[in-house]
Amino acid sequence: MLCGWQLWEWPHVMIEAEFHAVWLSPEGAMVDVTPKPQGETRILFVPDPRRCYTGRVVDNVRLPLRDDQLIRHFIRAAELKTIVMNRGERASQYGHVSVPADEIEPLLLAQQFLGQSLASGLRDHDPCLCRSGGKYKRCHGHQFKPLLGR
Ligand SMILES: [Zn+2]
Repeated sequence: MLCGWQLWEWPHVMIEAEFHAVWLSPEGAMVDVTPKPQGETRILFVPDPRRCYTGRVVDNVRLPLRDDQLIRHFIRAAELKTIVMNRGERASQYGHVSVPADEIEPLLLAQQFLGQSLASGLRDHDPCLCRSGGKYKRCHGHQFKPLLGR
């Protein structure tokens, strides 16, 4: 097993590095044996000899591709979701992990809203996805601040 990072790009939104492992064949070829639900036939993989799999979740590293509150909030929602999903003894659970709704639902709703906003090409100074007529910054961006920060 060779550990490293699988890199994804959401054009104009963010780069995401996902902790990943490939199989190193006896001939030295890196073979990705992980099923790809989206059907990708090739991935960008960067080996990281400093890291190894310890059985614990390693959160993705997400870098925004522009300065935008929508992207910062989307990334923060993903980070908080990983924290909530791995809080306490949940960190050592696999498969179906039961999480109290009041801990996870606000994050899932925010992540869905922000994902739809970004997929629609909206930026933080554009009218909010909810069609209130206000800019995201002053509408849902303002509402999300206590949950997701600046
Ligand atoms: Zn709104």
